[in-house]
Amino acid sequence: MAKTVLIIEDNEQNLYLMKYLLEARGYRTVAARDGREGIAAARAEVPDVILLDIQLPTMSGHEVARTLKADPSVSAIPIVAVTSYAMPGDREEVMAAGCTGYVEKPIEPDTFIDEMESLASNDAAAPSDVRSEHEGDVR
Ligand code: MN
Repeated sequence: MAKTVLIIEDNEQNLYLMKYLLEARGYRTVAARDGREGIAAARAEVPDVILLDIQLPTMSGHEVARTLKADPSVSAIPIVAVTSYAMPGDREEVMAAGCTGYVEKPIEPDTFIDEMESLASNDAAAPSDVRSEHEGDVR
């Protein structure tokens, strides 16, 4: 069965690109344009991976990550941040919020999926079946 990736991203171009790249590699995608919608979609879909833009309207990506990690029904899902600013300290802030790591914008089509998979599988909290299936079906 196709793995589901929830993409929480307010920028239509980035959303379209991530969706396109993921679907080309056999993933099913679900999109949300802000934090509240993203949290609702995470609870409803229980995706295999969450891609989370950090700069979102009304609710920051950090807040979204903290909310998801505090909810036992979705806390095991690896969250990969997507961020266009990677200043010293940002990585720590993203990790402290519960993300497994981040992919930098602009999104690089040739490496984006591999980066996402690698970061998602680094999550010690990820269920082992998610990890092994990621290694198997998409490379
Ligand atoms: Mn944004």
